Amino acid sequence: MTDSIPFPRGQWPELEPGWVWLCGAGPGDPGLLTLHALNALRQADVVIYDALVQKTILDWAPQAEHIYAGKRGGKPSAVQRDISLRLVDLSRAGKRVLRLKGGDPFVFGRGGEEAQTLVQHGVPVRIIPGISAGIGGLAYAGIPVTHRDVNQSVTFVTGHDQSGNTPSSLNWKAIADGSQVLVIYMGMKHVDQISRALLDAGRPGDEPCAVVCSATTDQQQVLETTLARMPADIAASGLEPPAILCVGRSVLMRQVLDWQGMMAGDPPRNTDPLGRGHPAEAS
Ligand code: SAH
Repeated sequence: MTDSIPFPRGQWPELEPGWVWLCGAGPGDPGLLTLHALNALRQADVVIYDALVQKTILDWAPQAEHIYAGKRGGKPSAVQRDISLRLVDLSRAGKRVLRLKGGDPFVFGRGGEEAQTLVQHGVPVRIIPGISAGIGGLAYAGIPVTHRDVNQSVTFVTGHDQSGNTPSSLNWKAIADGSQVLVIYMGMKHVDQISRALLDAGRPGDEPCAVVCSATTDQQQVLETTLARMPADIAASGLEPPAILCVGRSVLMRQVLDWQGMMAGDPPRNTDPLGRGHPAEAS
C-alpha cells in the first residue's frame, strides 16, 4: 500500500550510511506516522524500536533488520546507555539507522539524551518529530487539549522520575495552581500519590479526569472519572498502561466530541457540556 507513495530522489531527505534518524512513530495508529517517518522506514538498514511501536509500522521496513530496544527490567539508565552506544556502533558500521520511538522522540522519550550521545560521538543525526500521545491520544478520545472556554495553558507532566518514583522535584502546588489542564504521562503506577498531591494543592475532588489507555490503537479504552475517584476507578476497571491521564474541564468535551463513539452509532451525550452555547456565537 505504502509503495504507491512516491518519495522522489532529491526532493526527500536521503538516509545516508552512518546517519541516525531519531524519529517519532506517533501514539499507535500507523496512520498517525509522518511522511518523513515513512520515507525513513523505506530507506533504513536497521530499525531500533521501542515497546510502544506497532508491528504494522515495522512491516513498512521489510528490507531492514528490526531490533527491539524496549526496557526489560534492570537499571533504566544502564539500558539507555546501551541503546545509545548501540546506535553509535551501528552508525560506525556504516548502517542507515532509524531509531523509532513512540509518540514524539523529544516528549518524555529520552530522545534528547540519545541524540546528545550521538552528537558527542560525532554521529550525524536528523530528528523527525511525531504526534505525542498526550495530544493525539487525547484527540482520539475526543478531548481537545486546549479549548478557549477551558484553558489558556496546558501542562505536560511525567508521573515517574528516573528512579521510578513520583517526581519529587515537581512542585505539585505550583502545577495545580498554574495550569487549568494537566496531561500526565506514565501516571498509572503513582496515580494515588498524584491524585492526592493535586487534591492537597486545592484542586477540586469533582474535577473531571480521563484515563486514555492504548490510545489510537484497536485496544483504546477511555475511563471518565473525577480527581478524587480516579485511583479507585482505575483499580476497579482493571485498566493497564500505557495510559495518559488528563485532569481538567476539557475532559467534559468528550461528551460532545467522542467521535469514535459517534462512528459506532452513539449520539453525543451533551452538545454543550461547557454550558457556553454555540461557540461561533460566543466569539
Ligand atoms: N514519547 C512518547 C511518550 C513516551 S513515555 C510520546 O510522545 O507520546 C511513555 C508514556 O507515554 C506511557 O507511559 C503513556 O503515559 C504514554 N503513552 C504512549 N503511548 C500511549 C498510548 N498509545 N496510549 C496512552 N498513553 C500512551
